[in-house]
Amino acid sequence: MYAPRRALLTAGALVVLVACSAGGGQPAPRAAPSPTPVAASAPAGPSLAGHTIVLDPGHNGGNAGARAQVTRPVPDGRGGTKACNSTGTSTDAGYTEHAFNWDVALRTKARLEAAGARVVLTRTSDDGVGPCVDERGKAGQAAGADLMVSLHADGSTTANSGFHVAYSAPPLNPAQAGPAVTLARDLRDAMVAGGFRVSDYVGRDGLSPRADLGGLNLATVPAALVECANMRNPKEAALVSSPDGRERYATAIATGIAHFLTG
Ligand code: ZN
Repeated sequence: MYAPRRALLTAGALVVLVACSAGGGQPAPRAAPSPTPVAASAPAGPSLAGHTIVLDPGHNGGNAGARAQVTRPVPDGRGGTKACNSTGTSTDAGYTEHAFNWDVALRTKARLEAAGARVVLTRTSDDGVGPCVDERGKAGQAAGADLMVSLHADGSTTANSGFHVAYSAPPLNPAQAGPAVTLARDLRDAMVAGGFRVSDYVGRDGLSPRADLGGLNLATVPAALVECANMRNPKEAALVSSPDGRERYATAIATGIAHFLTG
C-alpha cells in the first residue's frame, strides 16, 4: 500500500523544493551535508525518510544485441501479451534513450536519497538486457515501494514536442484508480513548474491514460511513466543531450515524487 497522501505533510516544505527547481539552473546551496556526489545540488525539502521509491529507467543498453530475448512475449497485465522490452529511440545525433533514461534515473535517485528516501532501480547498469516490462511492472510491489516512476523519452516526428505523463487506464486495481492518477498529475505539475512544456501531440494537458503499457498495468502501487521529451525534435534533443538538461528533468521528477509523498 502507499502512504496516505497527507500523512507526512510538512508545512512549507514543498515550497522549498519547488523554489529549487524553478530556476532550472544552479540549485540553491544546501546547509545539511550529504554523502552523495550531488550533495551541493540536493534540494532542501521535506524528509522522505521511511519512503521507498522504485525508479524504472526504460529499455537497456544491451537490448539491441539480444533480439530474441527482448522480443519474446510476456504478460501485458490485461490478459494479452506484448514484447518483453524494446530498444527505445535516440536523437538524430545518436544519443540513445536508454542512456538518457539511465542518467536521469541516477540523478533523480541521488536527489531522493539526499532527502532520505530508499530508492530501488529496475536495472543495475546501462549495458544489460531487460528486464521485461512485466517484471518492471511488478517492481514497485516487489520492493515494498510507495510508488514507481518509469522514465522514458519519445521518438516522434520532428515538429512534435513536449512531455507527457502516462498512467494505466481503465484502472485494474485501487492504486491505479486514484493514487496513480494523482501521482501522474503531481509529476506533470512539477514538470511544468520546472519549465517543461506539455506535449503538443500526445494526451491532454500533459497526461495520457493508457491501457497498453504492461509496466503500468501490472503495478499495484501508484505508478506513472514520464515521457520526458521528443528526442527527434531538435530543441528537445539538445535538452536531453546536455547534463544540465538532464539535471532539470531529475529535479522536476524528484519534486513531483516528493509532492505526492508529502502533500
Ligand atoms: Zn522508451
